[in-house]
This record gives sequence, C-alpha cells and structure tokens, in this order.
Amino acid sequence: MSSTPQFDNYINGEWVSSSQTFENRNPANTDEVVGLFAKASAADMLAATNAAAAAFPGWANMPAPARGNILYKTADILEKKFDQLGAEMTREEGKTLPEAKGEVRRAINIFRYFAGEGSRMDGVMVPSERERVHVFAIRKPVGVVGLVTPWNFPIAIPAWKMAPALICGNTIIVKPASSSPLCAWRIVEALHEAGVPKGVVNFVAGSGAELGGAMVNSPAVKAISFTGSNDVGHWLHAEASKRRIRIQLEMGGKNPTIVLADADLKSAVENVCNAAFFSTGQKCTATSRAIVEDAIYDEFLAALVERTRKLKVGDGMHPGIDIGPCVDKGALETTLRYIEIGRKECGEPILGGNRLTGGDYDKGYFVEPTIFAGVIPSNTLACEEVFGPVLAVMRAKDYEDAMRIANDIPYGLSSSIQTSSLSRAMDFVYRAEAGLLTINLPSAGVEYQLPFGGTKDSSFGPKEQGPAAMDFYSDFKTVYMKY
Ligand code: NAP
Ligand code: MG
Repeated sequence: MSSTPQFDNYINGEWVSSSQTFENRNPANTDEVVGLFAKASAADMLAATNAAAAAFPGWANMPAPARGNILYKTADILEKKFDQLGAEMTREEGKTLPEAKGEVRRAINIFRYFAGEGSRMDGVMVPSERERVHVFAIRKPVGVVGLVTPWNFPIAIPAWKMAPALICGNTIIVKPASSSPLCAWRIVEALHEAGVPKGVVNFVAGSGAELGGAMVNSPAVKAISFTGSNDVGHWLHAEASKRRIRIQLEMGGKNPTIVLADADLKSAVENVCNAAFFSTGQKCTATSRAIVEDAIYDEFLAALVERTRKLKVGDGMHPGIDIGPCVDKGALETTLRYIEIGRKECGEPILGGNRLTGGDYDKGYFVEPTIFAGVIPSNTLACEEVFGPVLAVMRAKDYEDAMRIANDIPYGLSSSIQTSSLSRAMDFVYRAEAGLLTINLPSAGVEYQLPFGGTKDSSFGPKEQGPAAMDFYSDFKTVYMKY
C-alpha cells in the first residue's frame, strides 16, 4: 500500500485514530495525497470538550509565566521544522513557498509574543475613592474554548487563536479546516512535544457541520473563536447565543483599494496587484475592488494589466511562481462561476478569465489572474466576495465619490488608499468603514502585534491578535480590599 502519512486526532493527550479518514490533497497536483486524517465524530468532539474541562483547573492555576515557557518551547520546536512546515503548507494549501514560509515565521512569532504575555499579563490598578481600600482587577481565563479555523492561513490563524487562548489559562479544542488541516496538526504536535499537560490542547478534524454542532452544543464549551465564511459564522453565533456563550467571528470581506490621481502610480499598481492576486486572491484582506479616480483611470488600468500579465501561475513549490492554485475544486468552481457572472454583467474581462489547462495545469485548480474593468456598484462583482484571483476595477469621479463607493457595502474588513496627500490619507483614516486600513501599502499583509479584525458584517466580538486578543480569552475579576 501507499506510504501516505496518517494523522490522528489528539484528545486528552492521546493520539486517537478513527474508523474513517479523509484525504488532504495537493491543489497544485491532485494526484498527490499530502496526508490521511482521522475523521472525528461528534462523540470525539464531546470527549475532547470533556477532556478540556477536566484539564482546565490545573492549567488555569499554573503560573502564567510557566504556561509561557511551554509556548516558548513550542515556538522553538516549530522553528526547527521551519523548512518542512513551509513545504507542507504549500503542498496542502497551494500558496507559494516564500508566502508559506512567511506565514510559518509569523506563527512562530505569534507563539513567542503570547509566551511573553505570560509574564506581562496586565490587570487594572487604580486608586479607590475610599480610605485604606485597595482596588484592582486581575484577568482570569474563560474556560474551555473552541477554535474553528479556515484553510487560507492554515498555520497563522490557528496560532493566533491557540497562543492567546492558552496563555490566558484556557483549555482548547482546535477544529481545523478540512482542506488544510496539517499545519494546525503540526502546532498541536509541537505543543505535545513541549510538554503541554494532557487535555489542555485537543485537536479534532473532520466535517465542520458535524463537529461544529457538537462543539457549540457541548455544555463544557464556554467560548468559540471562529474565522471563516459569513454563513457558518452566523449559524454558530445563533447557536452560541442560545447558550449565552462568548463568541468571536472573523468572516468575509469585499475590500476596496482607492487609487487617487496624486498616488505614486508605480507603487499603487504594485500594491493593488499584490493585494488582489497573491495567495490566489484567497486572503480575507485581499483587494477585490480597485476604485480609481477618473483622472488616472486609463493610465492605471493599462499599467495594472501589464504588471498582472507578468505573474507566473503554477505549482507554488517551484521557484519563480507568483500565484498558486485555488485551494480545492469548490473554490475553483466558485471562482469560475463568478467570472461567468462578471462576463454577463460587465462584459469580457480585460485580462484572464479562464481556467488554466494543458500539461501540469490539468492536475491542479489553476485560474488566470482576472481583471474586470468598468465595474459599477450594482454589479455582483462589486458586492460579493469571490475569494479567488478576480479583481473588479471601478471608476470614481473624485475622492469623495471613491470614499462613497468604498464604504457602500455591508462588509468592513480591510480598506486601502493610495495617495500622496496627507490630508486625504487622514480623512480616509477617520471615514473608511473597515477594521484594518492601509495607506500606500497593499490591503493585505498584517502584523501580529496589533489588533486584527473588521467591522460591519465582516466581524463580531473583540478583535484578535496583539494586546486586544487578551480581551476575548480572559475575564476580569475585580477586588475591593480594606486594610
Ligand atoms: P468556512 O467554510 O466557513 O469554514 C471555516 C471553518 O468552519 C472550517 O474549519 C469548516 O470546516 C468549519 N465549518 C464548516 N461548517 C461549520 C459549521 N456548521 N459549524 C462550525 N464549523 C463549521 O470558510 P472557508 O471556506 O474555510 O474560508 C473562507 C472564508 O473565510 C472567506 O469568507 C474568508 O473571507 C473568510 N476568512 C476570514 C478571515 C478574517 O479574518 N476575517 C480570515 C480568513 C478567512 P470544514 O473545512 O470541515 O468545512
Ligand atoms: Mg488540501
């Protein structure tokens, strides 16, 4: 038989197999099975939540700096496997090797950052109104936390949920995306090697619908952090609300980049091209609408097409490749469906518009980077998230018109402006309706030491990453003491 590696679930400190498995295939070469994963059942999820509940008091009472030491050790273990982890990510998710390695680096940094929080963990200390009364508030963990993650940042997103959850003293169940579960599995393996006590970390892979229901309805679970689609997020929110448990949602976007006539044209083109197409447009913060001021519209569009035409699409393991495949068949089909809708509503794309075929392309889910021009706000491509390499270019009369178009959507994840005007940039900072803003940078590409998340329909609950992450994963206990 084949030597396909097998990956078990991790429940109560044990690796647990299952009668059923599911395949993790390479989207650049679907002949290659990256791994076979044990497919967990609802009963496995329940066992994991119970194990996490049993482990909670011990972990919560461990001094936070000692928890931090386990996270530091985990980061060291991941670092030793740096090259392997990068290659595995490219093989399971499709993004290019340099992008994958950048993400592994980020996950390591995230573990170190939150390890440090173990010895920094802030509280509140202010003077009391009363004499000889001392008042302060300390952070305590929430309890058992369920973490549900998407496939597009398969190591960074699990890391940015797991590390803050653990440092605050919570015990966790990780449910990774079925298209790319290996990266999260590697973090769990590293935590195991680092000596995390049994039951503190649990990993349960399998059907989101089945396991998500079991997770949110398990009495042990006190909070859920979810990143993924709006449909699933809204369903989870409704279920969690019935039990009045804490929930945090990071979901879709339809992110704009405004390009003003006073922008540095070359860098604006580079930033839009990068944000729209790198990682195959499969970043939640990707630019999917370029809103360009009339005065430079034609010039910008011509330069963008010329730049984008140079992008090399192929297997991200190969040097020189800029853009990998869509993550799976479903993502490929969704992208092609939106391209057809674009054709009907906006005419032929001015670049791309097809699945790539022939030779090695036939083995993967490759699509040409695609640009539609002259898109108007009522077009589907201006309203709905594609999550693929498809950019809608829209014309704006002036800055005010561009701001109006940019904000006139239900989403609010990221928003970008390209301008040399400080005054316009600051105006944008105050008026853009999004949680993540960039100025003269691509709309995608965030750092772990700052709050992350959107507004409007893109997000719900406290922000992730940076110091803000502590607020979701902890609660204050306030103390009044007379001495
Ligand atoms: P998805 O289909 O919602 O899946 C996300 C996770 O939820 C997966 O682990 C999935 O498991 C699981 N899931 C599916 N059904 C579930 C249910 N009923 N209950 C609980 N969990 C369930 O999203 P995706 O396709 O992986 O990711 C793409 C979406 O994520 C895009 O909309 C993108 O914008 C968004 N995203 C947002 C951010 C952000 O920070 N705002 C970041 C990255 C991605 P299975 O894989 O087993 O189905
Ligand atoms: Mg895969």
